[in-house]
Amino acid sequence: MLHSQRRNLIRNRRRYTGEPLSIASRHLLDSTLSIPSATPEQAALETLLLIMCGRMDYRPWRAPLNSERRWYPPFGFRYVVPLPDELQLDVHPDLLPFFVGLVMPAVETDGTEVGGIAGLRAEVRAKHVLLTRPGRPGRIKVLTPSFAWEAAVALAIDHTNRDMAVWMDHADEWTPKEVAFYKINNRLFDLGISGNAFTSGLIRRCHAIYGGQNVRYWSLWIDDGIQLEWRGGPTHSAVIKRLLDHDFGLNVSLEDPTRRCYCEESDRIGRDYCYRVAIRSSGGLGLALRRHPLQLRP
Ligand SMILES: [Zn+2]
Repeated sequence: MLHSQRRNLIRNRRRYTGEPLSIASRHLLDSTLSIPSATPEQAALETLLLIMCGRMDYRPWRAPLNSERRWYPPFGFRYVVPLPDELQLDVHPDLLPFFVGLVMPAVETDGTEVGGIAGLRAEVRAKHVLLTRPGRPGRIKVLTPSFAWEAAVALAIDHTNRDMAVWMDHADEWTPKEVAFYKINNRLFDLGISGNAFTSGLIRRCHAIYGGQNVRYWSLWIDDGIQLEWRGGPTHSAVIKRLLDHDFGLNVSLEDPTRRCYCEESDRIGRDYCYRVAIRSSGGLGLALRRHPLQLRP
């Protein structure tokens, strides 16, 4: 492969993963530089991760609502490093307390509800934190040093809900409430093998929906397929071009190739939002892309 071709492939890959050049270049050993698919168990865990982080609040922890706006990457992930049986994440330090609050399980003392990912446990090492579910394959490696993780945990878990943070007291096992909750509720978030593969493919390419310094939020939820909404940033056509890319994109097609959107029509930007553009995976799962224009007041 020519040097310039390699450089182009590395640059393209980084548009999807956000990886720093030094990390993306390491994948040169992989002859294609393509983004690997997750194993089925890993994909199931990444589906849960994406659903939880789809609720991210994009502001520093406990910042007043009217404080000056700062800009963050999708779901707070500055970059992701996808491996077949692991997903590495660099979470923005401002959003790390939210991340802890969203993904680590919280069990109501007198109820059956479990927030976050049931069974998830954190193994804190000096330079990273490994998130796994005892007895199940799949892992998420958060590339944050132990002191930063512990500071985020202290913020996320104040004394009022310390009792709910079962993961801190049961490092190697699920609690009975988590097991019960998982048995009953997991199907809500389990999209099946092809659905999970699609969702995992999306989180592994989350920078495809990144617009640099001008996206206010991304919101993702499950309702009649996957709904993904963002405000400002890349237009539908830019996102769709990346997601449909032959080398780095997902195996998806447009639901209705004839349908037009309003992203490029600035005179119509006053509409409440550019309506949804849907794409569909080969397994049949739909992803609705809903973009709000970002109106910056003069
Ligand atoms: Zn549009």
